[in-house]
Amino acid sequence: MTAAISFKGLSRHFGDVRAVDSVDLEIGAGEFFVLLGPSGSGKTTCLRLIAGFERPTAGRIWIFGEDATAAPPYRRPVNTVFQDYALFPHLNVRDNVAYGLMVRGDAKAARRKSADEALALVALDGFGDRKPSELSGGQRQRVALARALVMQPKVLLLDEPLGALDLKLREQMQGELKTLQRQLGIAFVFVTHDQGEALSMGDRVAVFDKGRIQQVGSPEDVYDRPETPFVADFVGASNVLSADMVHDLVGRNAPASLRPEAIRIGFGPLAGVVHARAFLGSATRIEVDCDGQKLKVLIPKGGEVPQMGDSVTLGWSEGALHIMDSANG
Ligand code: ATP
Repeated sequence: MTAAISFKGLSRHFGDVRAVDSVDLEIGAGEFFVLLGPSGSGKTTCLRLIAGFERPTAGRIWIFGEDATAAPPYRRPVNTVFQDYALFPHLNVRDNVAYGLMVRGDAKAARRKSADEALALVALDGFGDRKPSELSGGQRQRVALARALVMQPKVLLLDEPLGALDLKLREQMQGELKTLQRQLGIAFVFVTHDQGEALSMGDRVAVFDKGRIQQVGSPEDVYDRPETPFVADFVGASNVLSADMVHDLVGRNAPASLRPEAIRIGFGPLAGVVHARAFLGSATRIEVDCDGQKLKVLIPKGGEVPQMGDSVTLGWSEGALHIMDSANG
């Protein structure tokens, strides 16, 4: 099957800054694909390269098999939802949604019908006559979504679209976006720096660091089987054990990831002293200093939490220690 988006050796440099640095990537036609990484890692630049707002310094990009490397944005079957929504304050909701159709030259009645259908899709029926200022943040986000969807893109690009929303609304919109993507069956390419959001929404996740992709895989892959210490640490703040420590423990000479929730206190091969404690609500996180290597341990609510300064022994179940043989980060 032809990929929706495909990159080969794609780079975008700004002077000395390698915002995107020789990236190869394929995104499937019906995929919810997440670009995850810290601030400045190149996610937005990558999205802008797909949209055509940026020209690559090197490499090529194909959209549904067609070379789009030099195509202007309006010739690409993609549309973008920006974090700041970028709605026109003087236009009502319907005219905001229909704006692209007007620029394209659609007749008024057809524009109105399409805009109302798009508003229904995002559960905003009946809001067409309001001004953006008369809407909540979540509703404005939905208008921005409707405005992008009304153009019937084959790929929807979303740049941190939920960043401005409070946690509860954010979680609600995550569910709604996921449902909408399934319903429409088009590819969504979603940028976020929030690993929880990436894991809960993505069919696949690409983890970015310094303009490069460190790993692409399912949420389970990047969480349970990180390929580099960077991925282990960034996705779920795992413990990264040094190669020396792993050698002492299991005889292999490579770093390993060990999830804080996989560690049990009481019996095992490591001993250390509790030197930090943080109550998180549903769990307590402690940090144990094992001869200079600090390990985070997550104790679920109801579990016995040791005191600061206590000596403890740490163990884990078989398979919890994930050795990163191919580590380069
Ligand atoms: P954030 O989550 O903060 O938006 P990001 O991962 O999306 O970050 P980018 O916006 O793609 O990162 O930026 C990647 C790097 O490229 C950064 O170092 C940024 O400063 C730089 N950069 C991006 N756009 C430009 C530009 N137009 N001119 C110069 N440098 C730029």
